[in-house]
Amino acid sequence: MNDPTLPRACADYEHDLVDLHDGALAPEQARTVRLHVERCARCRAWVQTFAALDAQLAAGLPRPALSANFRRATSGAADRPVEARRTR
Ligand SMILES: [Zn+2]
Repeated sequence: MNDPTLPRACADYEHDLVDLHDGALAPEQARTVRLHVERCARCRAWVQTFAALDAQLAAGLPRPALSANFRRATSGAADRPVEARRTR
């Protein structure tokens, strides 16, 4: 989440805010995050922007695919056998 158009949420809460939006937080954790959002204008603005962005994506923009570079980097690591490190 390095989109420069997003306002910055508190670093400690940014991931929790996404999880809260996705409904992925445990109930008591969700309550803590919601309490913070109520008191924190920065996080409130972030949540609103994120929700609007998410709604736009859901409204029809294609989900971004993994870049070719990412695939090459990860498959390269996976192709390297672990045993190679132990041979001598
Ligand atoms: Zn905050």
